[in-house]
Amino acid sequence: MAELPQFNPYINGTSVAPSTNAYFETVNPYTSKAWAEVARCDKADADAAIEAAHAAFVDGEWARLTATQRGALLRRFGDLLAEHAEELAAFEVRDNGKLISEMAAQCAYIPQWYYYFGGLADKIEGAVIPSDKPDIFNYTRHEPLGVVVAITPWNSPLLLLSFKLAPALAAGNTVVIKPSEFTSTSTLRFVELFAEAGFPPGVVNVVTGFGAEVGAALVEHPKTAKVAFTGGSESGARVYQAAAAGLKKCTLELGGKSPNIVFDDANLDDAVKGAISGIFAATGQTCIAGSRLLVQNSIYDEFVEKLVAFAGTAKMGDPMQVETQVGPVTTPPQYEKILEYIQVAKDDGAQVLLGGGPAKGRPECGDSEYFVEPTIFGGVTNDMRIAQEEVFGPVLSIIRFDTDEQAIAIANDIAFGLAAGVWTQSINRAIKVSNAIRAGTIWVNTYRAVSFLSPFGGYKQSGLGRENGIEAIREYLQTKSVWISTAADVPNPFVMR
Ligand code: NAD
Repeated sequence: MAELPQFNPYINGTSVAPSTNAYFETVNPYTSKAWAEVARCDKADADAAIEAAHAAFVDGEWARLTATQRGALLRRFGDLLAEHAEELAAFEVRDNGKLISEMAAQCAYIPQWYYYFGGLADKIEGAVIPSDKPDIFNYTRHEPLGVVVAITPWNSPLLLLSFKLAPALAAGNTVVIKPSEFTSTSTLRFVELFAEAGFPPGVVNVVTGFGAEVGAALVEHPKTAKVAFTGGSESGARVYQAAAAGLKKCTLELGGKSPNIVFDDANLDDAVKGAISGIFAATGQTCIAGSRLLVQNSIYDEFVEKLVAFAGTAKMGDPMQVETQVGPVTTPPQYEKILEYIQVAKDDGAQVLLGGGPAKGRPECGDSEYFVEPTIFGGVTNDMRIAQEEVFGPVLSIIRFDTDEQAIAIANDIAFGLAAGVWTQSINRAIKVSNAIRAGTIWVNTYRAVSFLSPFGGYKQSGLGRENGIEAIREYLQTKSVWISTAADVPNPFVMR
């Protein structure tokens, strides 16, 4: 059998063998076959990457660049990304099974993060403080933090990485990336473009492997200044604890169980599409999935009939084919977890309206072991586990409500607060409900839209801090206040000035 290609960590501007010399296989979820081997890094590799990033931060070419020069490098990197978008999209699909139609568009969009934050790099201005003290000139500077550790999940590796990397670099930090063990290859190909764009070695580094073995070592390293994490709530809590132990800054983008609310005055055909994009796009494997569909009683039967009919036409198949609408689940543990939740919902009395089981073995699913039928449950109440816990798969729970107040109460009766959808033709209702829902993003008459321009992040257990938009760069900066005395004499040293 032909040997599989090997992917190595990228440290200080070069690809190096892992200190362990150990590799693990990465699997294409559509073929269920390993297609490459990825380095299983450990603490020694984590240390080497952090040291390289630290050296580049304190005393390298990068440290001497002006913000304008950093911005120009980021924009050049954006151009290279645009040229390589198709190639990178193919890497993503091979590793995570998401649709080429989505990943090609996503990879073509990612350069915008580098153009936007590249443009922002030299527009971060300090202030001259109107000092209340005589003979004092006081001004502020916004300075980078140092080494940022960026930890990403498997569902949109390069997009979620760019949410972190673009502002971190624009602010002048250096970065060590730890991609998901299930989807490391696109990140390793992506970082090679930094050298081509002219970034000095050590500014961007990647170590691969498992969270507990190498991710934790990065977070715990004393020279790590900040951790930017996207992933599940349990790992997020562990990362937050480890960061707290070292008094490190931390942003967390975690899970969700977002309500998608359909009111009786909504355009029902549009709302059906919104419900579908909320839960079946990306095979439901998105943090912003609209996995709780709240439908007003007066339109419940009509709406649910339309929804089930539409969802029943979703075309499963090879994610590399542009006409495919639902691909495989990305990882074996995720596949098992989704099926367990389907069973939990059935046991708790939810009613299967569509799907409800594995789909492997169907001709369109090829040799994949990991297809799950698009599944819709009716008769769900908000206290059921299927309504409260994140499934991260193509499983929708429909919950009834009568009044706006009930819809708001159900929407907020959850530990998460990442996003929500509101479907109504009434502007008053749209604003009232949007203001009342405790979540970081609200979409009205649309769903699952993100932009480099607009803040993104969670309320409650969905996270800490914000990514995207101007305020995101503040998460990678700290403020220094500089005091200069112009007084002729040094005043009484025993008294605070
Ligand atoms: P995960 O938490 O298992 O892993 C995420 C990353 O963290 C991986 O790179 C993993 O290796 C690493 N990791 C795990 N334990 C660690 C530790 N102790 N120290 C350091 N690193 C560690 O998540 P996943 O299964 O890859 O992704 C799915 C989850 O991500 C879902 O819960 C989803 O909601 C969430 N997610 C959130 C967003 C968002 O922006 N809010 C976006 C996408 C996914």
